[in-house]
Amino acid sequence: MNHQDMNDINKFILLKQIATQGPVSRIELTKRTDLSKMTVTAIVNEFISKGVVRECGASTSTGGRRPILLEIVPNSMLTLGISIGRDILQAGIINLRGEILQSETLPMAPIRNNEALLKSIFSLCDQLIKNKLSKNIHGIGVSSVGPLSVGTILNPPDFNNLHNIPVTSELSKRYGLPVYMQNDMHVAALAEVYFGNLQELSSFIYIGISSGIGGGIIINKKLYTGISGLAGIIGHSIVVPDGIQCECGRRGCLEKYSSTRATVQWAKENGAPENINWWDLTDGAVNGNKLYMQAIDRMTQYIVTAIINFQAAFDIESFVIGGDLHMCKDMVVESIRSKLKSQHTIWDQQNEITIKPSSFTSSASFIGTAALVMENSLEPMP
Ligand SMILES: [Zn+2]
Repeated sequence: MNHQDMNDINKFILLKQIATQGPVSRIELTKRTDLSKMTVTAIVNEFISKGVVRECGASTSTGGRRPILLEIVPNSMLTLGISIGRDILQAGIINLRGEILQSETLPMAPIRNNEALLKSIFSLCDQLIKNKLSKNIHGIGVSSVGPLSVGTILNPPDFNNLHNIPVTSELSKRYGLPVYMQNDMHVAALAEVYFGNLQELSSFIYIGISSGIGGGIIINKKLYTGISGLAGIIGHSIVVPDGIQCECGRRGCLEKYSSTRATVQWAKENGAPENINWWDLTDGAVNGNKLYMQAIDRMTQYIVTAIINFQAAFDIESFVIGGDLHMCKDMVVESIRSKLKSQHTIWDQQNEITIKPSSFTSSASFIGTAALVMENSLEPMP
């Protein structure tokens, strides 16, 4: 590794620290990163001269000269974020704090071929590029339903028959910016690392429960994607041998039992009205409807099985539960916790499983596109 590469990595480490842990003093940065005082001072000066970092008062620390604190200038580097979901296509401008400055959406239903999808993405992005802040856009981040492979959406099930869409190459051709794409739950996990309120966690597995179930594995604050980019597809861990047939080709996958869609389906089969949707079910469950509470209970039962299996493999600090849980997020988290607590194992002392609710609602995979761009493109600095 040459000197320039090393310097770029140091810049990235420092900017990530200031963005996610700021306001923070130079002294604190040297402690947290093990970089020398000289390196920290030089890089911070460069950030300040470029308008990416600013001084923001003094810390209230113990005696002597109080160290000056540093914080990120949130709008100095912006992401053009795109979220490609099954129902909604969303694009927006997001800053270094994960705040959405502008956002536009289109329904996915009328989009029936690859050209139409790309055209819709371009039309949203063209509108956003007109924003006066767009000169600060330093990259495009895309989160999409998977499976994905090197910048291409392959063949997601239940996705209007769209497949093999070369999203990143088309976007970089049109806008001349670096483009990064990851599956939506990987991006949601990164949103927790950069913008969430679970900063104390350095390693966790994010589980996103929506019409499907996805996951993201964070080890030492870095996303682990696996050798083929498919790490964390928790929805396809098998919880019932020879169970319900899944679109992936196997049987008994978690998402056939515990996705919002599967949970609504189970409620219908057990007496709920035919026209009920997930919103109605969560609303009913938090208001004490017995059948809907039972449906949530069944949902968490299989999730607990998957969590136990993943914990056996990873011995991880925590599992973070997110996705489209709406009003029943706390109920789901509590239900998982109490099921885990009721099972005693010989490992209880060493690796008690901790469960935390996600910091976000369903927007994590959109906001996280800014984290995806920061994670990939802060080196070298513009
Ligand atoms: Zn499956």
